[in-house]
Amino acid sequence: MKQDYDVIVVGSGMTGGWAAKEFCEKGFKTLVIERGRHLDHPSTEYKDMQAPWQLENRGMASEIYDEEGRYRMLKTKKGKLKTESIQFFADEKEYPYSYPEDRPFMWTRGYHLGGRSLTWARVSLRFGPKDFEANAKDGHGIPWPIGYDDIAPWYDYVETFAGISGNKDGLPDQPEGVYQKPWNMSCAEEFIADNLKKNLPNRRMIIGRTANMTEPTEIQTSLGRTKCQARSYCERGCTFGGYFSALSATLPAARNTGNLTIVTDAIASTVDYDETTGKASGVTIVDAHTKEKRSYRARVVFLCASALGSVQILLNSKSNTFPNGLANSSGALGHYIMDHFTGTMGGGTVL
Ligand SMILES: Cc1cc2nc3c(=O)[nH]c(=O)nc-3n(C[C@H](O)[C@H](O)[C@H](O)COP(=O)(O)OP(=O)(O)OC[C@H]3O[C@@H](n4cnc5c(N)ncnc54)[C@H](O)[C@@H]3O)c2cc1C
Repeated sequence: MKQDYDVIVVGSGMTGGWAAKEFCEKGFKTLVIERGRHLDHPSTEYKDMQAPWQLENRGMASEIYDEEGRYRMLKTKKGKLKTESIQFFADEKEYPYSYPEDRPFMWTRGYHLGGRSLTWARVSLRFGPKDFEANAKDGHGIPWPIGYDDIAPWYDYVETFAGISGNKDGLPDQPEGVYQKPWNMSCAEEFIADNLKKNLPNRRMIIGRTANMTEPTEIQTSLGRTKCQARSYCERGCTFGGYFSALSATLPAARNTGNLTIVTDAIASTVDYDETTGKASGVTIVDAHTKEKRSYRARVVFLCASALGSVQILLNSKSNTFPNGLANSSGALGHYIMDHFTGTMGGGTVL
């Protein structure tokens, strides 16, 4: 057993960063356990300061990785591989997963400090009131126990800290948030938006609401973050902290409190359960290099290892009381999981 903490947060990505910040700011001694390697911000692994010709194969293709099933997220439609940000994606060869042949899926992971907050596409939308009501109105399931009005103040809270740019478009299904000034549309986008307005007035094309800052506030500048430089190099990591990530924003805020400890290269294998108190008592990890096991104890355990990763840990956490995994007395754990879907987009060429 190692040192005690008030809270253990497993995972340091999008949600883990937030959990760490909130707990640390409230005065709790917090340990973040991350399975991947340590990264600083700015990191020597960021490639945003390199010109295209300074990147290996101009950041596009490398025969070394051009093997079926590896880095699936980075393959272009023409079969090329984008390598400029490959360091921030888990290699399926090293971390394989299986799926039924008739239901294939792509499990994109980022095993390093900051997780997928480094490579996300920064689209920052709110759920609208209808999203909370639609299933019940359509006759599926039960009404959600919370509605838009309950969650709206939390959207405000997150957007204020993260720094989101966007326009107040007055669309009820896409509620507005706390925005910095929006980016301009390109002339091709303006052309399409104008034509849509004329020909299909009930279809609106709006500028994206994105976590790329246009007018950093004191909250952001105090963390050393500056305005987005509009270079479209985000996936390479951003030296300016121009887009929101756990590395550039939440983890530094947590660290500034003096309450944060981070341990990397530590793969959480189980949440430990105390049969006498009936509560989680800590987390056991496997050291990624030595394969040795270590346990950390805390009063609260927060699983932020991603949708699939957290379920994996819970299923692994077997005890006399929970022989099928912690929080799995119903047997529902491992079913009905939503991770992230991508590729639902349309495109066109303006000539
Ligand atoms: C290419 C791409 C584009 C995206 N674009 C958008 C977008 O535009 N807008 C949007 O809202 N969302 C987007 N997403 C989704 C978004 O990135 C995820 O929903 C979000 O990062 C999930 O946060 P998380 O904390 O659950 O997981 P992650 O950010 O993945 O963090 C999980 C962390 O837990 C660690 N971990 C996992 N297992 C263990 C373990 N056993 N022990 C210790 N640590 C562990 C991982 O290494 C990782 O650091 C995108 C995702 C991808 C991949």
